[in-house]
Amino acid sequence: MSDDYYKILGVEKSATEEEIKKAYRRLAHKYHPDKKDGDEAMFKKINEAYQVLSNKEKRSQYDRFGRVFQGQNGAGGFDWRNFNDGGFEFGFDPSTFEDLGNMGDIFDAFFEGFGMKRKRKTYERGSDLELVQEITLEESYNGATKSVRFNTQKSCETCSGVGHDPKEGFTPCSACDSRGEIHEMRKTFFGNFSQVKTCTKCAGAGKIPNSICKKCSGTGRITGEQSVDLKIAPGVDDGQLIKVTKAGEAGVHGSEPGDLYVRIKIKPHKKFKRSGEDLVITESVNLVDFLINRSVEVETISGKNIKVEIPSDFNLGDQLSASGEGMPRLGGFGKGRLLINLDIKVPKKLSGKAKSLLEDLRRELE
Ligand SMILES: [Zn+2]
Ligand SMILES: [Zn+2]
Repeated sequence: MSDDYYKILGVEKSATEEEIKKAYRRLAHKYHPDKKDGDEAMFKKINEAYQVLSNKEKRSQYDRFGRVFQGQNGAGGFDWRNFNDGGFEFGFDPSTFEDLGNMGDIFDAFFEGFGMKRKRKTYERGSDLELVQEITLEESYNGATKSVRFNTQKSCETCSGVGHDPKEGFTPCSACDSRGEIHEMRKTFFGNFSQVKTCTKCAGAGKIPNSICKKCSGTGRITGEQSVDLKIAPGVDDGQLIKVTKAGEAGVHGSEPGDLYVRIKIKPHKKFKRSGEDLVITESVNLVDFLINRSVEVETISGKNIKVEIPSDFNLGDQLSASGEGMPRLGGFGKGRLLINLDIKVPKKLSGKAKSLLEDLRRELE
């Protein structure tokens, strides 16, 4: 199924806020899981699409970078990582969950109640992080290693991330009889049912450590600066996401860390414009040089000067092309082209002598 938010809502990319709202309402009614022909999965998708497209900032991020990945937390949960241009801003902001965005969780709780789905509670994996790294076009051309620094939840060094001193041992949890779970009757609109809950006293472990780590208050992680060496392959494109496995937030009590996603932003270049794997430049050339030399000399992105012949069938407005002088293709499959637009400079004023020489030229060419 297509995950294009505009397609999901059936609107044009240029749709107004009002059109998006209308489309959303119509589809949300149609697919609402309470309806006879409802479709829960579709309903969630519609909500996810609406969450993004109804928010100016998220919509413009989506238009520029496309959809970010599906969140790791909860089925169908929507987990948008914010980031700002330039600086880093990352992490997960619960305030972005609004009104109907929460419906998915409500349905999950509902289905869980019937025992249709139940996940055994384990310690939470660390959150994924996303941040933006700006690089130059030259760095994209050559490839680069960037040291990326950011504040995050790191594993506590004092207790190696477990939150306690294992040498001091444990006391069995009395609240749950060491089972880690508590059975609870839950009253709901649909009737009563028994629910299994994780014991809050021992957080599901069934035992309580005798010596809690003071540095991290037992969570196993502390806030601090993290630095990651980011390897950027030659040819990386603007907006591309690089995943650094397990370099995200540390997990609670030594559980698995999240992943780090770095979105590459390439600074605009003074001279070269990128067009896929090709580079485009505009080179000024004097009219007489153009006529006499039939070639132009240009500096490539790698810094070398090359001479490009002007073919005999060249027309003003055509583009010259130098193959192999564009951007590297990812994976080392050669390079794109350098495309050259010629800006032909015509003399503003002609002296009497120049005019008479041109008259001679005209006669010669006739
Ligand atoms: Zn600790
Ligand atoms: Zn317990």
